Amino acid sequence: MATIFTKIIRGEIPSYKVAEDENYYAFLDINPMAEGHTLVVPKKEVDYIFDLDPDTLGGMMRFAQQAAGKIKNAMGCKRVAVVVLGLEVPHAHIHLIPLNRESDIDFRKPKLKLSPERFTEIADKIAGAQ
Ligand code: 5GP
Repeated sequence: MATIFTKIIRGEIPSYKVAEDENYYAFLDINPMAEGHTLVVPKKEVDYIFDLDPDTLGGMMRFAQQAAGKIKNAMGCKRVAVVVLGLEVPHAHIHLIPLNRESDIDFRKPKLKLSPERFTEIADKIAGAQ
């Protein structure tokens, strides 16, 4: 059965897309730790990131680098944190999280609740950034 992220990539489940190419897809996390919290996934469905073939993993990091640049410019944060963790979805994914101080990264903190309009605004801003 397809993972929830594959369904998102196929457009079967809606998402707030920020970037896409032939092999990768980036979209806003629906339970964000900060505004602009983005997930980068390979279109190839592999559970564990280090089971990806080296070319796909390398390409995923280059795609994430470009997405992180857009997030940084759109959100005006100091840096963009890169986090890989979690056992929730069996589809490799990288969290890109706007970072201003180290305490911004805490997966135990309550997540932000954003309106659909705000998600759309943020996704459009990141997608349109350099
Ligand atoms: P992890 O496995 O890295 O702990 O968490 C998976 C992440 O995917 C979580 O941050 C969760 O909010 C996000 N997520 C799970 N399901 C969906 C979904 O349907 N849409 C979006 N945009 N994000 C999701």
